[in-house]
Amino acid sequence: MNKVLIIEDEVSIREMLAFVLEQNGYHPLQAGSFQEAKEHLNVPYPSTVLLDWMLPDEDGIQIAKQLKQDEKTQHIPIIMLTARDEEEDKIKGLEVGADDYMTKPFSPKELIARIRAVHRRTMPSEIEDPIVEDGVLLDPVSHRVKVMGNPVDLGPTKFKLLHFFMTNPDRVYSREQLIAHVWDTNVYVENRTVDVQIRRLRKAIGKKSKMIQTVRGSGYRFSRVA
Ligand code: CA
Repeated sequence: MNKVLIIEDEVSIREMLAFVLEQNGYHPLQAGSFQEAKEHLNVPYPSTVLLDWMLPDEDGIQIAKQLKQDEKTQHIPIIMLTARDEEEDKIKGLEVGADDYMTKPFSPKELIARIRAVHRRTMPSEIEDPIVEDGVLLDPVSHRVKVMGNPVDLGPTKFKLLHFFMTNPDRVYSREQLIAHVWDTNVYVENRTVDVQIRRLRKAIGKKSKMIQTVRGSGYRFSRVA
């Protein structure tokens, strides 16, 4: 479960953030003050903290400082949120250890891009962000797949196959290439087995089955349906 802790006292902004995170496969935790946030700052720790600048009980800078000084929480990337676009604030935030800084209002796309960027910078191998493509969501951490918000149960091979496709979209792969990337190397797999797994995967993702396209004479491709 990829938890993201939102520390923001403005309910409408907090709920908007939670909604966007949920849509993108994260598990949002909400806190309106530092006091409330403390309840969420324990094992398993959130993978990111979104921290508002001005809070009722403690200001964001002080919180960032405390989190970065505590060895239990110092590894968690912090993205500061502020209403003011002031260079001085940005510098202050980064000085106490915040990993990034966003000025309100920002788009959902920008938020998700920033979260992924801090993950890549701070913990490249530990955190695998959920992948979302045109209504299909795959979370590599929890091994969950959702199609248009509905959970889909996939066996390990179909999960790996979909993971491979979603991380390598818009490219054609031959059956041999798919076997090399997806299947265990010490097992002999026939090309036909790929066709069978593809058929089952398409059936499992139902409405989105057209995203897995047969390329005649070549193999398969995963793509957004035009
Ligand atoms: Ca505030």
